[in-house]
Amino acid sequence: MENNDVLKGKSPSRRTFLSASAATAVIAPIVAQTTAASAAATGTSTGAPQTFDPQLRMLLSEIDPGRIQSIISTLAGFGTRHTASSQTDTKRGIGAAIAYVTDQMNQIAATSSGRMTVQQQTFTQPASATLANPTLITNVIATLKGTASPERFYVVTGHLDSRCTDILDATSDAPGADDDASGVAVALELARVFATRQFPGTMVFAAVDGEEEGLFGSTFMAQQMAAAGNDVQGMFSNDIVGASQAFDGTKPDPFTVRLFLEGIPTNVTAGQIATMKAVGGENDGLSRQLGRFAQEVAPFWLTGMNIRLIWRRDRYLRASDHVSFQGQGYPAARFTEPRENFNHEHRNVEVINGVQFGDLLEFVDFDYVGRVAKVNAAVMWALATGPGTPKNLQIHTSPPTGFAGINTTTLTWSANPEPNLAGYQVVMRETTSPDWTNTTDVGNVTTVTLNISKDNVQFGVRAVDQNGNRSPVAFPQVAA
Ligand SMILES: [Zn+2]
Repeated sequence: MENNDVLKGKSPSRRTFLSASAATAVIAPIVAQTTAASAAATGTSTGAPQTFDPQLRMLLSEIDPGRIQSIISTLAGFGTRHTASSQTDTKRGIGAAIAYVTDQMNQIAATSSGRMTVQQQTFTQPASATLANPTLITNVIATLKGTASPERFYVVTGHLDSRCTDILDATSDAPGADDDASGVAVALELARVFATRQFPGTMVFAAVDGEEEGLFGSTFMAQQMAAAGNDVQGMFSNDIVGASQAFDGTKPDPFTVRLFLEGIPTNVTAGQIATMKAVGGENDGLSRQLGRFAQEVAPFWLTGMNIRLIWRRDRYLRASDHVSFQGQGYPAARFTEPRENFNHEHRNVEVINGVQFGDLLEFVDFDYVGRVAKVNAAVMWALATGPGTPKNLQIHTSPPTGFAGINTTTLTWSANPEPNLAGYQVVMRETTSPDWTNTTDVGNVTTVTLNISKDNVQFGVRAVDQNGNRSPVAFPQVAA
């Protein structure tokens, strides 16, 4: 709840800036290539709250902590799900977990009228410092194909495997109830509630393997999606999303989930670094835009959960499967509980001096996991329902013809393909503001010139459909 206070505390100062900006009318477009832009309204905020479809509320109400408990209990009951544990034992080991999740996904897919397909994606990971022998890795992937825009992908993952103290120990108990049966339960529960419904974009719900030893399963999955040319416009790793209790004097915070968002992109090029050094933009990578979008479309009053954005790729010295997708240049982020108890992660199940160690079922709050699932569901709904993020957005450093000498800003982008597109919004904020503060509707155009110096603010563009659904914001690259 502390976070909620922080966020509330920041809102007034943002609004103050908005009012000040609106009063000076700094964002009236002065040139646009269609007449639509001349009717542009100057917004004084990032727009009215998106209206939430009653169908979304119904879907959220179907998320069931009882089913989540059943999934986590079953997975923890396999004793260990170490990546190198038995693949053939039907009761203990990673093989049993893979079979169980595959069966669950297949049952869910049977309710989808053929729109959902389930795949076991298997490959051999060579031996390394974290795997004693070459090891078969299997991701279980359910894909719910989109209707109007199936080429756009939105991905949610949890990881199947677990570990104890020694990363090479494939036989000792490693129940992994929180890390990461909780994340797998989120992916499965989302698959279940989305399977019976149709969406323009394609959704992927995956349980990936080999996370603990080096993100092996998700690395392969992300590489395969990139090789297939899949346009992944949003990916979320749910990793350690099960415990709501703080542990070391901090008050419990069962209504906050953290969302880790990289700054400098994992796959940044030398040229992009040079641009950031020159003009900034280090706070405007794809993942930061995805996080801002998530916070907007999954508010507390809809999900019962605050999203605490953390501007860091992951916790200190840690990583999760979102990093694999960031490595392919995809927008990706990690959900995780508000404050971890390291006694329960990556530890043997044992009692030392009266303290219980190990990742046991008893430390998981199933209602909390249910709220995490609601956050994921609201975000996936908005992403797969709304238009895609505009592409090829560029900010031009030469003034347009006839305006030489005027310090204006010209933005250009590619037209979105959605048939129900209404147009675009230019969003803006002070360079020091954490989130977009101003919105201007510019109509269904692909070029706009604004009488605002690009040196003083940050710009972005998002698409809007005829129902008012908005895309995540695209941040401009500097035109060559
Ligand atoms: Zn994990």
